[in-house]
Amino acid sequence: MKIQLATGNTHKIDEVRAILGENSGIELVGYSGQEPIENGVSFYENALIKARSAFQATKIPTIADDSGLAVEVMGGAPGILSARWSGKKDDEQNRQLLLSQMRDMDHREASFICSIAFVNNEGEHGFTGVWSGELSREPRGEGGFGYDPIFIPQGLEVTAAELPAEVKNSMSHRFLALSQLAEFLRRPQ
Ligand code: IMP
Repeated sequence: MKIQLATGNTHKIDEVRAILGENSGIELVGYSGQEPIENGVSFYENALIKARSAFQATKIPTIADDSGLAVEVMGGAPGILSARWSGKKDDEQNRQLLLSQMRDMDHREASFICSIAFVNNEGEHGFTGVWSGELSREPRGEGGFGYDPIFIPQGLEVTAAELPAEVKNSMSHRFLALSQLAEFLRRPQ
């Protein structure tokens, strides 16, 4: 079965390929056509907008994802605005703004969330992974990207940016959502 991933990001394609497994019988291809406007109000809506748009263009079964960080005392913000929380697509400024907004907060629970939409001829399916933890007081670690240096996963004392990539990629929100998708695709259709 051929499936396309609605992203031009080769890192994401490799990650999905690794989680689906070498012998999945799935040929994964990238799609980097025109990007639709992501004006949904949830991670899943935005994933669905991207998956529908790529599926309509090619008629190839399509996977798309959308993800971000949700801070409990901020009512789930930055949420779908994670990539541009400071007004710019700048990871460092996004982290600094969030830490300053949270400066006086002791209740620091936060979760990374990843929603995946899968669209084919038969319909639309959604899968969501949640990676729970809390915000640190200051950035730590050199790995990862985005909010990783200020996110301490539940049960650990290090930030996500201090974890080796393969460890992060075996427990993250993206891993949890992709594992559900992999299980769905393995089911007899
Ligand atoms: P996207 O879904 O890949 O566009 O991610 C949206 C934004 O959410 C990113 O720009 C990051 O700020 C944040 N984000 C999503 N996943 C992660 C992660 O695994 N680590 C750190 N930040 C993340």
